[in-house]
Parts: sequence; C-alpha cells; structure tokens
Amino acid sequence: MIKTDILIIGAGPTGLFTVFEAGLLKLKTHLIDALPQPGGQCSEIYPKKPIYDIPGFPEVLAGDLVDNLMEQIKPFEPGFTLGERADTIEKLEDDTFVVTTNKGTKHNAPVVAIAGGLGSFEPRKPPIPNIVNFEDKGVAYIIRDPEVYRDKRVVIAGGGDSALDWSIFLADVASEVTLVHRRNEFRGALDSVEKVAELSKLGKINLITEAEVKELHGDDHLTSIGIKHKTKGDIVQDTDYFIPLFGLSPKLGPIGDWGLEIEKNAIKVDNSYDYQTNIPGIYAIGDVNTYRGKLKLILSGFHEATLMCQSAYQRIHPDKKYVMKYTTVGGVEGFDGTKKEAKKEVVKSIV
Ligand SMILES: Cc1cc2nc3c(=O)[nH]c(=O)nc-3n(C[C@H](O)[C@H](O)[C@H](O)COP(=O)(O)OP(=O)(O)OC[C@H]3O[C@@H](n4cnc5c(N)ncnc54)[C@H](O)[C@@H]3O)c2cc1C
Repeated sequence: MIKTDILIIGAGPTGLFTVFEAGLLKLKTHLIDALPQPGGQCSEIYPKKPIYDIPGFPEVLAGDLVDNLMEQIKPFEPGFTLGERADTIEKLEDDTFVVTTNKGTKHNAPVVAIAGGLGSFEPRKPPIPNIVNFEDKGVAYIIRDPEVYRDKRVVIAGGGDSALDWSIFLADVASEVTLVHRRNEFRGALDSVEKVAELSKLGKINLITEAEVKELHGDDHLTSIGIKHKTKGDIVQDTDYFIPLFGLSPKLGPIGDWGLEIEKNAIKVDNSYDYQTNIPGIYAIGDVNTYRGKLKLILSGFHEATLMCQSAYQRIHPDKKYVMKYTTVGGVEGFDGTKKEAKKEVVKSIV
C-alpha cells in the first residue's frame, strides 16, 4: 500500500502544482494518472501550442510549462502511479481513504485531491465484439513502451498523427508493421504521411487503406486478425499485436460513482473556502470542479490548489497553527521554526 499525505488524482498542471504548494507545507504527495506521462491536457492534446495567459510568461509552450512544473516540484520528490486509473475509493475507520486503481495498486491518504480535469482519457475502441478479451493479450490502445514490440509483428489502425508516427517509429523496431486505415487520405501531418508512403515503398510498412479490422483471433493471446477490404474482400493476417490508435476521449469515469455531488459532468465544491467536496477530506480542483463563475483555465487550477493545500494542512495537523507567509521571506516559520531568506533555501529546508 502506498501511503502519503495528499493523494492527487490527475497529474495535469493543477495536480503538479499541488505538489509544490503541499511541499511548502511539508506535506508528502503522490499522483495517480491514467495517462503514461504527466501534464494532462497540456501534454496529451496540445504540447506544442503556445499559452499566453500564465502570469509572468508572455508566451510558453504547453509542453514546456509541464517541463517547468516538473522541475519546480522535483525537490519534493512526489510519487507517481502513471498509466493507471483511480477506480474506487473507500473510507477507513481512521478517517483516511484508500484509492485503488484499475491495475489493483492501493494508495492510502488522509486527504484526496481530485485534479482529474476533463476526466480520464479513455481510448476510443473500434467496434470489434471480442476486443476486450484481448486487452493486454495482444491488443493495446496506447503505446507505453515500444520495446514490447521489438521483433514482433504489429498491426496499427488509424489515420491520425499517433497512428502515422508510431508506424514510422516501429518500422525500425518490430519485425513487421502493417498500417490499416479505412480511407485513402490520412489526417496527420503531411510530413508523416509522406514518410509512411516512402517506408511503404521500401517494404518497411505494409500499408492497407480502405480497410477495417473486423475480427480478432487467438486463445490466450492474439494470433491473427480479420480485415475487411473495400475491394479485395476479407483478408486474414497473422500478427502478435493489434494497436488501434483512434484517439482518446475524456470521461469523468469511475470518480462519478464516488458519492460526490456532480453537476454537468463536474464535481461541485465549496469555492467560498477550500474547494472541498460534499465528502470531507476529498477536494476537487482545476477543470474537474464546478462553482458559480468557474473558469476552466490553468491559473484557476493553480489558485485552487494553493487554497486547498492550506485546508488540507489543517485537516492533517489539526493541532498545529499555520500562518501563511511568502515563500521568500521566512515562509517556513510556523512548521520548522526557522526563517529562510531565499525561496531555494526554503525548498531545501523543507525536503
Ligand atoms: C486545445 C486547448 C487549448 C487550451 N489553451 C489554454 C490556454 O491557453 N490557457 C489556459 O489557461 N488553459 C488552456 N486550456 C485549458 C487547460 O488545458 C486546462 O484548464 C488545464 O489543462 C486543466 O488542468 P487540470 O490539471 O485541472 O486537468 P487536465 O489537464 O485535464 O489533467 C487531468 C488529468 O487527470 C487524469 N485523470 C482524470 N481522471 C482520472 C482517474 N480516475 N484516474 C487517473 N487519472 C485521472 C487525466 O488523465 C489527466 O491527465 C486549453 C485546453 C485545450 C484543450
């Protein structure tokens, strides 16, 4: 069981900044995210888009903002459970919570901060009746570790950047790469489309367009797939892996069943004070929450995380009095009894 002070569900910008604010208060943090990398929407949807409304940054690429946040929280050594979705929550007799992921990892904390944004990004699955039977047995919707596919036969399906980029990458890793797309035209970057066409001519990618994967065969593991081609009819192809890359769609998901007050697919919170939900000890911050006047912006998440951590501190240490001070001028006084002049020293003295 992983134990921490504040368990943060969602490693988007809001979840990451929570680590910093909690760290200043000497509270330990652990983050869970369904995605294989931190950064939430910034990393998953628009890493190369500039953002203009982060105070102090006239312009910053979303991916660079995530890198900076990771650098900023490094001294606090947060724990990460990535690639796993928080599925269930249980309250123990000692008033702490146990959150279990879809992979069975258990986390225990007195405070849970839901920073789940638009929800966990669920892969869009193709309508193949028995596809769930082959999940983790030859079927994957996200490529976490390309080494898994070294010297294996791989079929990728999709027409966007993900499908094109991974086909190009795996052409040098897998023993055989097939890209199946239902149209002749691809939606991805022109550069990638040209590269796939070139690799197809060289025989490094087997390109099958105007076709769809309709069947999966195998016992304990996938062994072959059935492809329906517009003009050539049915094709059976032997393969070790089938990876449909049809994008990810956000869903509030299992958190919606945790007994929290939900309004328009978002969690209602007390914004007059600390962004706590209707269940004491569970907070909701960033895009995932709702209240009158809510703005789904990164800076709103940063502000909410800051206030939430103050309240969490009181919940975790009801006997201690914390007086807020600036990080640069003695902000640590009150919980380690020392005054430090520079922010860097403050951070060092806390970790
Ligand atoms: C195209 C685009 C452009 C944008 N431009 C701007 C801009 O210029 N300025 C601005 O301020 N905002 C912008 N935004 C909005 C901004 O990205 C969001 O406000 C911000 O990402 C919210 O951060 P968050 O951490 O609250 O949530 P998210 O970034 O959504 O992160 C939430 C994370 O929680 C994870 N998660 C959810 N449920 C679970 C679960 N059950 N288990 C495990 N993990 C879970 C998700 O996988 C995700 O990684 C833009 C958004 C988009 C889509």
